[in-house]
Amino acid sequence: MFFGCWVRVVALIVQKYGGSSVADASRLRLAAERIVNTRRAGNDVVVVVSARGDKTDELIELAGEISEAPPPREMDMLLATGEQESVALLAMAVHTLGEPVISFTGYQIGIFTDSSFTKARIRRIDTERIRNALREGRIVIAAGFQGIDDDFNITTLGRGGSDTTATALAAVLQADVCEIYTDVDGIYTTDPRIVKRARRLERIAYDEMLELTSLGGGKMHSRSIEFAKKYRVPLLVRPAYMEGAGTLIAPVADSATLPVVSGVALVKSEAIVNLRGLPDRPGVLATLFAEMSRRKIAIDMVVQDVATAGLAEVSFTVPESDLAEALTAAEAAVAKLGAGTVQHGTNVAKVSVVGAGMRTHTGVAAQMFQSLSEAGVNILMITTSEIKISVLVNREQSVAALNAAHDGFSLHDAVTQPLAVGYQNIPTDAAPVSRDELERDVVSRLASMEDIVVSEVQLDEGQSRITIRGIANRPGVAAEVFAAVGEGGVMVDMIVQNIGLEGRTDISFTVPRSDLERCLLLVRELGEHWEGAQVSFEREIALLSVIGIGLRSHTGVGERMFAALGAADVNVDMVNTSEIRVSAVVSPTTAKSAHAALLKEFGLTEVG
Ligand code: ASP
Ligand code: MG
Repeated sequence: MFFGCWVRVVALIVQKYGGSSVADASRLRLAAERIVNTRRAGNDVVVVVSARGDKTDELIELAGEISEAPPPREMDMLLATGEQESVALLAMAVHTLGEPVISFTGYQIGIFTDSSFTKARIRRIDTERIRNALREGRIVIAAGFQGIDDDFNITTLGRGGSDTTATALAAVLQADVCEIYTDVDGIYTTDPRIVKRARRLERIAYDEMLELTSLGGGKMHSRSIEFAKKYRVPLLVRPAYMEGAGTLIAPVADSATLPVVSGVALVKSEAIVNLRGLPDRPGVLATLFAEMSRRKIAIDMVVQDVATAGLAEVSFTVPESDLAEALTAAEAAVAKLGAGTVQHGTNVAKVSVVGAGMRTHTGVAAQMFQSLSEAGVNILMITTSEIKISVLVNREQSVAALNAAHDGFSLHDAVTQPLAVGYQNIPTDAAPVSRDELERDVVSRLASMEDIVVSEVQLDEGQSRITIRGIANRPGVAAEVFAAVGEGGVMVDMIVQNIGLEGRTDISFTVPRSDLERCLLLVRELGEHWEGAQVSFEREIALLSVIGIGLRSHTGVGERMFAALGAADVNVDMVNTSEIRVSAVVSPTTAKSAHAALLKEFGLTEVG
């Protein structure tokens, strides 16, 4: 592993330099010095480079002056020159310092992709030429962002694709670490421009990074983190212009030592779409997701709460720029379903807290809602996943909310105090994998290297649901509920709060069945001083989760999941989504067939 690299004789280090780190001769020299120092410290070095500075933008602009719609094949032919230029220059800079070096284009490294010009996906990588060059004692400088298809056409991987080249090379070469040199000094607990006390993280787990990247935190290509996670490549994000420890994105060895929350994020321009009075029957979500996916709109927060009087209600958020299209999609869905009304709201923002330690700690939701309540922030909607809690708030309160959440978890302190430890749920990335196993896995999966991975469908039949309806929608209600539950030591799993009518709101959540009685007592006790609120529960529910990576941003996953459930005649009671998990509550009578339908849809077999 990476931490042992200074005791090992030869480590293999992949370094990626972004456009600003090779922008001109002096920066190229600086990068070359770092590369040569790494080599002289006794490591094998493979470097992946982006085009210099704003080169790619300039080329795109130039093409635009020639043609309104340049043929995509010629576009890739053009864009790939940016990286060809920078690898040659960097190799010259290294050569000047007296180290043997060779530069390669994507073709020469053997990066084969499909033929989707301008957004190609990697299919396989032949590493022989790189390995030979390394064996000859050379530093290898490889062009990022480009490959070739089976007909030897030049392809590119989409904007920012050099991160993906670097991680993919690190994966197939089984590098000890992939260092990403950029103009920031690491990954922060949140955006330092908004929160003054934001702090650089020493370390972050892949899942946390995936969630944060999808929330707009961090600048990395999320496909590269998907790769890194799949093939367990440790990524080290470091500053290019100074010596700095950076941030290590790596597998989690021991979840007990993790901070409960690693980061908070803000997405400012959200819009909400609310569908009411929908029929409560199988296929409702499938219809909605199909309409959205057809228009390539990624649904962000989705909340379906337990139906009242036979009518279901679904709310979801989208980036404000997608609102008009999303409303058309929602109207189309309502027309197909034959019932329902569509409403929307615009002045909202999303604040999320992310932390892998949430899997094993109680009281995280309570802490977050408490911090927001103290800052006078009203919560409009809540969704949760295993490692993330997101709330929708009024936009003018969003900066206050972000600061309150950051302070509430003491993220400015290097060591956050872990909360009480609940039941242990060992995260999947903790399982050790041998080098042999890894090699077999990487090689056998190369053909589908960039496919969406739904790795698992889980069925949890040990949960119950509690719903509180008609509570006043004011700051502090959610805090009261989850403080009470958290003090009782109950591990709350899925929390859903839907946007309410006339200042009222409903909150539902799931708890382990063995905690149901205790939890009901706590909630009822509280409910006594809430006028008009009603507590109801369901002892037997089944919680189905589709787990993988890139689930939310690949718009087709939700569509396939809900279409499969609809086709199996399964009615969904509650749903929420995140980048790594989509969960649905269904009746226990349909749980087994629902589980089977999802395993089949995603080509998985049940693990015993
Ligand atoms: N040069 C390409 C771009 O600007 C690829 C990269 O920088 O990663 O998008
Ligand atoms: Mg660039």
